[in-house]
Amino acid sequence: KDFRNTIKPNWCPGCGDFSVQAAIQRAAANRGIEPHELAVVSGIGCSGRLSGYINAFGLHGIHGRALPIAQGLKMANRDLNVIATGGDGDGFAIGMGHTVHSIRRNIDVTYVVMDNQIYGLTKGQTSPRSAAGFVTKSTPGGAIEPSLKPLEVALSSGATFVAQSFSTDLKELTAIIEAGMAHKGFAFINVFSPCVTYNKVNTYDWFKENLTKLADIEGYDPSDRQMAMKTVMEHESLVTGIIYQDTETTSYQDKVIGYDEAPLHEADINLKETDLDSLMKEFM
Ligand code: SF4
Repeated sequence: KDFRNTIKPNWCPGCGDFSVQAAIQRAAANRGIEPHELAVVSGIGCSGRLSGYINAFGLHGIHGRALPIAQGLKMANRDLNVIATGGDGDGFAIGMGHTVHSIRRNIDVTYVVMDNQIYGLTKGQTSPRSAAGFVTKSTPGGAIEPSLKPLEVALSSGATFVAQSFSTDLKELTAIIEAGMAHKGFAFINVFSPCVTYNKVNTYDWFKENLTKLADIEGYDPSDRQMAMKTVMEHESLVTGIIYQDTETTSYQDKVIGYDEAPLHEADINLKETDLDSLMKEFM
């Protein structure tokens, strides 16, 4: 299964997004699926280009709206593996409402956020993930607001799968995306994916010095939501690994009556022009 296509990414050399793309391709190959069984939906931002770089169905959507499209795809076609991707600006600013409601809704979609703590595509403004004091052209005196904490938000919103990784750790990242794809429900995966051009604070070296692997914490239990929240807070969100997974809760689509028997994409709708006319009249 080859999820590579011939399009050369136009990310800056050294951008973390290259590794995220590779990890998604490897995870999909490891899952044993075919390219026509995968759909990748992205939002707007440097990371949004990713959906065009993978040999699968791809949709480069609109800003902050990758998740509604991804959820619609899964509801219409149960046979698709659906991955939504985006950046921290896309998912945690304009798209934050969709992120929280997707998490609590728990449709079987894997959401991979490339978190570089800055807006890269628009040439370096402070994002919701930038730390207080972060200096950019949009906050020349330093960011006044504290950064948004996506892991805490996900855990407190009822997430059934929460993970975090670092783009250079291809082995861990691939395994996490694979586990997210296998998860029956919404899988939220935050990935530190450094922007080498505009973020000179949260660099590869900075992450290497500050990240802790959950695998190195003795007795860590990813099925314990309280332990997950406590550990994330104690480490100021700088942990990697599967933070929390609930394998008991049923996914949204499995609660929808008829979802298994009659997928929308196979339905014989067979609408005629006259049917559409009468439908339209109802709304006039
Ligand atoms: Fe990557 Fe930053 Fe370049 Fe965008 S501007 S491609 S995020 S390094």
